[in-house]
Amino acid sequence: MPAISNLGATTRTQPLWSPDKATVVFVLGGPGAGKGTQCQKLVADYGFKHLSAGDLLREEQDRPGSEFGEMIKSYIKEGTIVPMEVTVQLLENAMKSSMDGGNAKGLFLIDGFPRKLDQAHAFERTVVPSKFTLFFECSEAVMEKRLLHRGETSGRADDNIESIKKRFRTFVETSMPVVDEFEKQGKVVKVSAERGPDEVYDDVKRLFKQRGVEPITLKFVQTQEA
Ligand code: ADP
Ligand code: AMP
Repeated sequence: MPAISNLGATTRTQPLWSPDKATVVFVLGGPGAGKGTQCQKLVADYGFKHLSAGDLLREEQDRPGSEFGEMIKSYIKEGTIVPMEVTVQLLENAMKSSMDGGNAKGLFLIDGFPRKLDQAHAFERTVVPSKFTLFFECSEAVMEKRLLHRGETSGRADDNIESIKKRFRTFVETSMPVVDEFEKQGKVVKVSAERGPDEVYDDVKRLFKQRGVEPITLKFVQTQEA
């Protein structure tokens, strides 16, 4: 991933791309709702590039020489929202490199973003307006169980009960207002995420179709020998 060369993204007055050049679907839901799991399925069937805000932040945190590493580390441990200048710039850089690298259609699933109203507004104002938000509804009891299980192998500094509780609070207090605002604009697709991954995905596919987003159809050309 390219290093953050400057933090200019959020000061632009116009979006970098129009919605016909880049299609962005935001993917939201509480921690452990299954966003990453569903995104992997969508990547395979629809040709999206999956960008996880959390993964990009962890990568930047671990990048040797990053001036933001220590700051990101403490926000993640506390389950709080990393300042939007950093997060939006990381996403913009990753989108640019994906487009340069052959994502000509500019299809993006942006997972775990926006988690606060300021970053939602900044992204849509300076990068590109989103198409819609895919929102996974899940109870805290189910998410907690999943995260503790994931924590047995993930090696993540925040998959422990103390950080999980803080992440739940941040989600309710800071991230839900983003979902509420997009919902008022008719831009939220809600899916119940408490069933198994395949059942959840069946609903996702059905709702994507309703929004005019279709899977990639692979055309096999049969060659016949004379
Ligand atoms: P998120 O990206 O929302 O934090 P993940 O996709 O990483 O969530 O899922 C959290 C954990 O729960 C992972 O260990 C994953 O394998 C598991 N998981 C995801 N979706 C489901 C599901 N529908 N049912 C049961 N377990 C799931
Ligand atoms: P995740 O990998 O999505 O579970 O996110 C892990 C942590 O990274 C969060 O608890 C936040 O501290 C940070 N983070 C993830 N996404 C964002 C975002 N959109 N804005 C700010 N911080 C974020």
